[in-house]
Amino acid sequence: MQRHWSLVFLLTILNLTTCALAEPAHDYGALPLIDARADYQGAMADQVAYLVEQGETLSVDEVQSLISANPVVLTHPETSVLTNGINSGAIWLVANIFNPTDDPILRRVSVGTGWLERVDFVLTTEGQLPQHFVSGDRIALGHRSIAKRIPSADYPFPPGETRLLLRVETADPMVVPLYFSSIAVSHSREQSEAIFYSFVYGVMFALSAYNLMLFAGLRKRRYLFYSLYTSSFVAVAASYNGIGMALLWPDAVGWQQWAPPLFMLCFVSSGLAFATSFLKTRRYRPWLHKTIQTIGVAYFALFGVFFALDEQGLALQLAFLVVQVFTVLMLYMGVSSWMGGNQSARYFMLGTLASVIGASVTALTVNGMITYSQLGYYAVDIGMVVDAMLLMLALADLARKNKVARVTAERTAQIDLLTGLNNRRGFLPVAESLWSLATRKDSKMCVAMIDIDHFKNINDQYGHAVGDRILKKIADELDKSRRKSDLLARWGGEEFTLLLPETDEAEALKVAERFRHNIEQLVVNDCGRMIRCTISVGVASRHAQHVTLEHAISKADEELYQAKIQGRNQISTGRTSDAA
Ligand code: GH3
Ligand code: MG
Ligand code: MG
Repeated sequence: MQRHWSLVFLLTILNLTTCALAEPAHDYGALPLIDARADYQGAMADQVAYLVEQGETLSVDEVQSLISANPVVLTHPETSVLTNGINSGAIWLVANIFNPTDDPILRRVSVGTGWLERVDFVLTTEGQLPQHFVSGDRIALGHRSIAKRIPSADYPFPPGETRLLLRVETADPMVVPLYFSSIAVSHSREQSEAIFYSFVYGVMFALSAYNLMLFAGLRKRRYLFYSLYTSSFVAVAASYNGIGMALLWPDAVGWQQWAPPLFMLCFVSSGLAFATSFLKTRRYRPWLHKTIQTIGVAYFALFGVFFALDEQGLALQLAFLVVQVFTVLMLYMGVSSWMGGNQSARYFMLGTLASVIGASVTALTVNGMITYSQLGYYAVDIGMVVDAMLLMLALADLARKNKVARVTAERTAQIDLLTGLNNRRGFLPVAESLWSLATRKDSKMCVAMIDIDHFKNINDQYGHAVGDRILKKIADELDKSRRKSDLLARWGGEEFTLLLPETDEAEALKVAERFRHNIEQLVVNDCGRMIRCTISVGVASRHAQHVTLEHAISKADEELYQAKIQGRNQISTGRTSDAA
């Protein structure tokens, strides 16, 4: 049920994003006059009207005569930013600007979208020659009306009325936020944009570089994919908002047309590669892994075909479609992995949700479905920064869990499961270092080997399960009897070993005697049957510099053998042959 719910939610978000491409408009009314003295801060499509070019390219004169013959050809956008979806053909924006003063007023007209291919500004004032400025990303930076990332033109508006005709042509989404302001206001807008982009790209580059280093050090591919994912987001954004052309490839107009869909491909494929490697999709959902690979190959192939045919519009439509499929897939993978019990997937899912919400808010904003605001316009970047940070948390969470699992596994390998004591692997490294320390300081140290007497008989008489219980009881008793500074381990079978630091043979003998006595007193009640056991102990000491731990253990083993042949339930040392 919960799963069903989340799917409905995802589809609703996507639906909203898609619906946003349909843009409401109402019929022509009187075209308002823009006051040339005013310094407009925001975008102002509600002060203009537009006309969509149907088929043939229209000239300025043709547009002028169309409007004067029948003003109804013009449509008023209802929103502050004019939008007309992807691959919508060229549109003409018309605005009347009035200068009531006696002097010209210098104003900058600009369109705040960096991906429009060609933008023509035509300014006509009665009695003067029309002024024509050209910009757009199909024109090298140096040849634009103003060498800026967004199409702009400066014009000293003469006294009286001037008509602005703005022709915009693009295969990308038609989003035309028109700005009309003083040059100072335009500069301050550029400055705040620069601060914002520096922050977003700074964060993304830092995360990308950091993860690349993690990949170099740890050789885990998920870090590489994360690094590619964040850097390709920056590449997509920079190729769209004009920063790429303004800073990196000012003359590469051909490349500029193909860069956005190509970077979108990189973004989507690195995002999916990250998701599949992070969520281990190949292992847990092989069918999904296969599907994603097939989609990836199909996308590359289709993109190649469109490139060969020079169909940039189709390549873009494909890219936008794939981004939508990508969004659904990422959310589905995150939600299902989380519900499947993968706790690290919750950060992944929340991150993806943040980027989807961000992208949706931007889509709704630029399409005029919600009131235009800078925050709404930049929501996609903000969402992506949140996404990148949450994915970083997801990676850290996964690394922490892997470390805990590794430490637990290492620790478990050193512990005997039946008795909970150290096994040989747990005992030897610690014993070796204590032994070397004792050798260096020439201090006293003993080793005791302990073996349960006739344990085979216990198994034979009461069964293996009871044998296990008794073994565990004896281990517990030995553990209780030892001094805190002594190191006890199960050596194997029904045999134990004890290392006694700072202890000479006489003291070791006393300790061993206490052990022997305590076990002799131990009674195990098995369904009313009272079972008793005894142990034999062999003790050896570090009596000379050259004695190694290995020597001492085999000496203690020999002593144990002596204790056995001398009748069991006793202790044997090199010095004392019988102490029981
Ligand atoms: P001795 O006095 O000479 O040591 O006689 P013993 O029977 O104790 O010695 P032996 O080496 O012949 O047999 C050891 C027995 O300990 C045989 C084996 O089945 C039993 N044993 C070893 N490990 C375990 C265990 O984990 N659980 C149980 N129930 N029995 C074990
Ligand atoms: Mg035994
Ligand atoms: Mg034995």
